[in-house]
Amino acid sequence: MSKVVIIGAGGVASVVAHKCCQQSKIFSEIIIASRTLSKCESIKASCLEKGTDTKIFTTKIDAENVPQLIQFFQMERPDLVINVALPYQDLTIMEACLVAKTNYLDTANYEHPDTAKFEYKEQWAYRERFQRAGLTAILGCGFDPGVTGVFSAYAQKHYFDTIEYIDILDCNGGDHGYPFATNFNPEINIREVSANGSYWENGSFKETKPMEIKREYDFESVGKKDMYLLHHEELESLALNINGIKRIRFFMTFGQSYLTHLKCLENVGMTSIVPINYNGMEIVPLQFLKAILPDPATLGAKTVGKTNIGCIYQGFKDGKPVKYYVYNICDHQDCYKEVGSQAISYTTGVPAMIGAALFLTGKWKKDGVYNVEEFDPDPFMEMLNTCGLPWREDFNPVLVD
Ligand code: NDP
Repeated sequence: MSKVVIIGAGGVASVVAHKCCQQSKIFSEIIIASRTLSKCESIKASCLEKGTDTKIFTTKIDAENVPQLIQFFQMERPDLVINVALPYQDLTIMEACLVAKTNYLDTANYEHPDTAKFEYKEQWAYRERFQRAGLTAILGCGFDPGVTGVFSAYAQKHYFDTIEYIDILDCNGGDHGYPFATNFNPEINIREVSANGSYWENGSFKETKPMEIKREYDFESVGKKDMYLLHHEELESLALNINGIKRIRFFMTFGQSYLTHLKCLENVGMTSIVPINYNGMEIVPLQFLKAILPDPATLGAKTVGKTNIGCIYQGFKDGKPVKYYVYNICDHQDCYKEVGSQAISYTTGVPAMIGAALFLTGKWKKDGVYNVEEFDPDPFMEMLNTCGLPWREDFNPVLVD
């Protein structure tokens, strides 16, 4: 019997709620709490329509208001808070969890609204306080970060003594039919891809210009795609948690139309996060752009094709060189049929539910603040296979040069 609060009511939150409802034995009660109550209500209605024994409640909450959060958590006393609102709210929710003695899980690391720079240091700074309070915080439990960290822990545990190289390849071969749209929160997505790229090599980050490094890769079930090196949050934690690491890179595929639109929007200033004055009102161009782009939560019905996300490892076991590729292929329309969402929300929401289930069943419970690769990967890998994200292995993959 456990009670979980899900904060946020967007694309990812909807998948988390649906997947929790499929595991009623673990999640006996969920409360969907977000800024817009009607969105919480419609997720609830969709979960009920599909049938579940999980009790579902909804409420309106401002996740940036710490006293309001504390009061809410103290009143409800949930076993865990799953934060699938936006990265800007990570710290306020963690703060409230500490005061109200509540465990915490999220899928994206804290990002300061004014600097578009994301790193773990603010969240890692909570380590001792969570430890002293006897609480668990699980950071970055989506797909990337999330499953990519679990894949890494699994590779390290079973196939390698040392891993020297990791390439994370995130391919979305889906087509939503719009000239330009983003598959998750547009503001977060555009901030991520318009920032400088970087990779970890020999102990430090090497910075690149946005989209400066491009490779082509032939993805199973998708085909050949151009992919670009981006900075990504799991590079920071994997660099600390993987033995012998020399280099970690993250690549994401983008179609030419997406890049052309993005360049144009950038060139005219629409991706800027610096507020401007418009008719006496202060607006942030990127937030305005988000308001006119399609809501990612509505892309499900139109999106066809597959995602293929995974990691290629190179290293050594018993003195012998080893190559290992582990990946998941996910079909947008299959996700839509199951939970009414496209595969990007699905591949993020399923791991969040799995991390929560492992915490609630005691397998991923330890006091402090942890990234997913710091837990035992085996039960998570098992649940990926049974909860909609089966993975495949290749011990002789084509490498990225
Ligand atoms: P959406 O924009 O669809 O949803 C965000 C939700 O958070 C919305 O319902 C929004 O409310 C709510 N929200 C925003 N601010 C507040 C606030 N102050 N108080 C309460 N609720 C608030 O985003 P997604 O569902 O696409 O993404 C959710 C999270 O998942 C993001 O942090 C994203 O970075 C992360 N993510 C992680 C991935 C991974 O693989 N690790 C991949 C994809 C996403 P409203 O409905 O009113 O707008």
